[in-house]
Amino acid sequence: MREALYYKMIEELAHCQLCPRSCIISEGNFGFCRSRKLINGKLIATAYGQTVSIAKDPIEKKPLYHYHPHSQIVSLGPNACNLNCAFCQNWEISQQDTITQAVKISQLAAYVRGMNPCQVAFTYSEPTMWYEFIWDFAVYAPDVEIVLVTNGYLNPLPWQALLPKIKAINIDLKSIRNDFYKRLCGGDAEIVKANIISAFQAGVHVELTNLLIPGENDSEAELHELAKFVASINPNIPLHISAYRPCYKMNNRATDKAEIEAACEIAAKYLKHVYAGNVLSTRYGRHQRT
Ligand code: SF4
Repeated sequence: MREALYYKMIEELAHCQLCPRSCIISEGNFGFCRSRKLINGKLIATAYGQTVSIAKDPIEKKPLYHYHPHSQIVSLGPNACNLNCAFCQNWEISQQDTITQAVKISQLAAYVRGMNPCQVAFTYSEPTMWYEFIWDFAVYAPDVEIVLVTNGYLNPLPWQALLPKIKAINIDLKSIRNDFYKRLCGGDAEIVKANIISAFQAGVHVELTNLLIPGENDSEAELHELAKFVASINPNIPLHISAYRPCYKMNNRATDKAEIEAACEIAAKYLKHVYAGNVLSTRYGRHQRT
């Protein structure tokens, strides 16, 4: 554990400024994300170095298809999240307390340095809730390439400060519409969109993921809007359109392959690299396109 970055004390309360939730935390209590707690008048990053899992994954699993393809990447992440998506596909590790194991920065660096390429992904839940751990790791091991798989829901100041330390990023663009973010995630689409733009402008390799949920974010109009937005940043940004399965608080039926392919068809009118996720698609599969 170490003291958190991006907060200020006003009288006896910690005002967290890491993400747009702007939690005001009293002594002995956690913020919404369950990773920051006010202890003896200091906001402490309690999830620091505590991972829900650590594994070597194919980088395509992040998903990143255009960054060191076919390589392995050490992956780990905290038991925390600052959104509360009703459809969360990883809710067991993001929305409730679970068993974690401690990882030291020096051990992680030594482990990753034994691989080629030498790269680590902060992923699985919401890694920006590990802001201090990622920051300290980047300072300790500047030779290691850092990948983030994130909801992109951070305040501009900490987000932009972190970007120079990040080589590649997959950001969830859950919907192009704010009412979706407000109703189902407790977030704000405009903040995520602004952070996608700033990540790209900072020279980070950016790929995006959209989880397609029947009846929620799958209208043709919305898909055109989403793909147009991505193309307005750069049409070479890869977009992964993934199938949803009922999870956590949502019971909508699962997305089928035909729906994913139809959504990919629309996105491909604007974008050069569109991929189907969580379904076996021959038309929009990992590396083949017809
Ligand atoms: S990072 Fe956590 S504690 Fe800070 S504002 Fe966001 S949800 Fe609240």
